[in-house]
Amino acid sequence: LFAAVEMAPRDPILGLNEAYNADTRSNKVNLGVGVFFDDDGKIPLLRAVQAAEKARLAAMPARGYQPIEGLAAYNQAVQKLLFGADSQLLAAGRVLTVEALGGTGALKVGADYLKRLLPGSKVYISDPSWENHRALFEAAGFPVETYPYYDAATRGVNFAALKAGLGELPAGAIIVLHACCHNPTGADLGVAQWRELVDICAARRLVPFLDMAYQGFADGVEADAVAPRLFADSGLSFFVSSSFSKSFSLYGERVGALSIVTAGKEEAARVLSQVKRVIRTNYSNPPTHGGAVVAAVLNDPALRQQWDEELAGMRERIRAMRSSLLAKLQERGVQQDFSFITQQRGMFSYTGLTAAQVERLKDEFGIYAVSTGRICLAALNTRNIDYVADAIATVVKG
Ligand code: PMP
Repeated sequence: LFAAVEMAPRDPILGLNEAYNADTRSNKVNLGVGVFFDDDGKIPLLRAVQAAEKARLAAMPARGYQPIEGLAAYNQAVQKLLFGADSQLLAAGRVLTVEALGGTGALKVGADYLKRLLPGSKVYISDPSWENHRALFEAAGFPVETYPYYDAATRGVNFAALKAGLGELPAGAIIVLHACCHNPTGADLGVAQWRELVDICAARRLVPFLDMAYQGFADGVEADAVAPRLFADSGLSFFVSSSFSKSFSLYGERVGALSIVTAGKEEAARVLSQVKRVIRTNYSNPPTHGGAVVAAVLNDPALRQQWDEELAGMRERIRAMRSSLLAKLQERGVQQDFSFITQQRGMFSYTGLTAAQVERLKDEFGIYAVSTGRICLAALNTRNIDYVADAIATVVKG
């Protein structure tokens, strides 16, 4: 049966982790991963999460099946984070939200449903994008193309090219947009640019699919929701996948959600009934624990405040690592302008390091980065940052 099965290519980032784990150098550093570490190099278990988990353990709830769409208290909390507690959209019942298995699961449920809704459409992702976007939408049966996004010269967004690219797309084209903290580049749109983008989507009747994997990692929960809120104001229908992997440091619990904004309450009910069919035939219903913990935190004022503070702590730590890395490169006499590191947002930076320089970082220093030059700033800490700055300075100087 399996005699002719070929070995699938290795996931590039997981392959990097394997190489890092096999490296015996004690000063090795893994800048390849997409995970937030604290200054001790550990994945934090947030205090707000610990409190919610303790209460849940003490209550010893039974583990019956969840509804297909997940926990109502969770889904409502997600909607408030995305659209604001006073959202008119929510009051009008225009949004349906289903609990999903992380941001990836939300994208997959959305992609499968879109394939039923718009079987002849194409999907457009940013150039470059999170590598799983292409694979995931292709697996759902869509042809996937790119729209212009990153500008290597400025290490920012080439907004003119982005607008021109979207301006050529046919009505019904699905465009996947990173709501904030663009992965892999760290280059985000400003508010005025988002406004223009919303207008283009409306004028060309595009189908926006916002991917919100890092809410709270750029400027804060409310500020980072500018994209879904501007789209909400536009009256358009659109999709949002969201994830608590990063913002709650709950990677392995697989807590995410798919929200779909429709024209009205009755339409939302019909769409929900179809999305539930997609879920039912995939995994039936989501697991209980992660969603229950997130809902407990978000729906309790004291825990919510604690989470806000802990999230701010994570955000500020990444910012501090960004400014510190820039300062340390300058101290080492690096001539090249690295100031973009402090302008890019979220966990990642497209550093402009070449594949050959990334290779040298690995071979000579045991520092692992993605061959595209993407590094994760949240893997830097006060103990490894001098070593990393020394290494980068060495490879960029020649
Ligand atoms: N979208 C983007 C842009 C991401 O970077 C990630 C996580 N790396 C995801 C989606 C998936 O999130 P999750 O881990 O919750 O599935």
